[in-house]
Amino acid sequence: MLNNDQLAEWDRENFFHPSTHLAQHARGETPTRVISSGDGVHITDRDGRRMLDAFAGLYCVNVGYGRTEIAEAISKQAHELAYYHSYVGHGTEASITLSKMILDRAPDNMSKVYFGQSGSDANETNIKLVWYYNNILGRTEKKKIISRWRGYHGSGLMTGSLTGLELFHNKFDLPLSQVIHTEAPYYLRRKDTAMSPAEFAADCAAKLEELILAEGPDTVAAFIGEPVLGTGGIVPPPEGYWEAIQAVLKKYDILLIADEVVTGFGRLGSMFGSDHYGIEADIITIAKGLTSAYAPLSGSIVSDKVWKVLENGTDENGPIGHGWTYSAHPIGAAAGVANLNLIDEMGLVENSGKTGPYLQKALTEALADHPNVAEVRGEGLMCAVEFADTTEPLGFFDASRKIGPSISAAMASRDVIARAMPQGDIIGFAPPLCITEAEVDHVVGVTVEAVKEVLG
Ligand code: PMP
Repeated sequence: MLNNDQLAEWDRENFFHPSTHLAQHARGETPTRVISSGDGVHITDRDGRRMLDAFAGLYCVNVGYGRTEIAEAISKQAHELAYYHSYVGHGTEASITLSKMILDRAPDNMSKVYFGQSGSDANETNIKLVWYYNNILGRTEKKKIISRWRGYHGSGLMTGSLTGLELFHNKFDLPLSQVIHTEAPYYLRRKDTAMSPAEFAADCAAKLEELILAEGPDTVAAFIGEPVLGTGGIVPPPEGYWEAIQAVLKKYDILLIADEVVTGFGRLGSMFGSDHYGIEADIITIAKGLTSAYAPLSGSIVSDKVWKVLENGTDENGPIGHGWTYSAHPIGAAAGVANLNLIDEMGLVENSGKTGPYLQKALTEALADHPNVAEVRGEGLMCAVEFADTTEPLGFFDASRKIGPSISAAMASRDVIARAMPQGDIIGFAPPLCITEAEVDHVVGVTVEAVKEVLG
């Protein structure tokens, strides 16, 4: 077996890591961590160090690590047929079965699922479908896409543009010109401190309407949003937000894309965030929880309304000119079927609906009174603690103090992984949906110790 020093050297010399400080890593200032196995909510590195992963990788390992049912389904598929494409009507038992299983679970107005590999490519597909849809309808000017500041929708050219975090735009010449951003429903950081949550929700919808009117409703094609903002800080919307936003979109005939890459398949305690918040989307993006990351697979679920137009369009225009080599990859599809069965068998949607509130309550009881805790928030098994220099009046820490990353590091030194979210001093929790209350108690205990170490 290779020793760790050799691997670390090869890593620095050869491996271009995503979302990593390139120069620091090349200089060896950030460690190479070689993860070698996982079981339930734990991962273990090559040195035998076992850590509780309270972020499920990148909020994706929903059924937990080491599930042999999925590994066996993947192995069986790889032995029988590792690959065949899904162009011109081809498929496998796994891909056809999975499309039915997804539609059986999706909101009633959904009609078909198009498969991709990642959340990013699924959202790229979605924008192409929206443009195709409007071209077929003869609305050739209706092309702009509105997303929110702090939204996260991927790292491609279009999806990196939709992502409303500057880090993902800087030096990449993004966002593209067809993308416009509107205010995030981030109540803690609202500008007008006098607004109630309900007033703030209405204000977000009013700002959206102003933007649509300023751009020209005939030029705006779609609005994309995560039911609960994820990478932008784990921020559930204020009550009434989605209702108010949807009323505006309906008024101007603008399609709604619900990006459920994180919220799909149980994270909020419901199968889909759309059901949870009464969102009637035209397209839903799925990825992560679809296979619990045992194999890369994503999907765009399109509604009856969108499907009918696309279907008619191909009669006039020929086959739809959009396909990936790996659309509906058999190994991903086999993982998806086994994963969705496991979610049902293990009762994980229900567990998320119970353990999520338990986690939020425990974090609130342990931390809400701390002078530097601005907010404990969450929905289902998506929770966050946001830290601030002062809470009355609210004054945020200077980013250079790196409070969030320091707390996350202090937790990691105690073998618990929680994520320092990329903007603001926010620690995010999104563990596998199989986490138990005892494991939650451990996570909360470690969080308290880490906060004490960093902030006193
Ligand atoms: N949408 C959302 C809401 C996400 O959280 C992510 C990834 N974190 C993506 C899209 C992009 O998915 P991927 O990284 O698989 O491309």
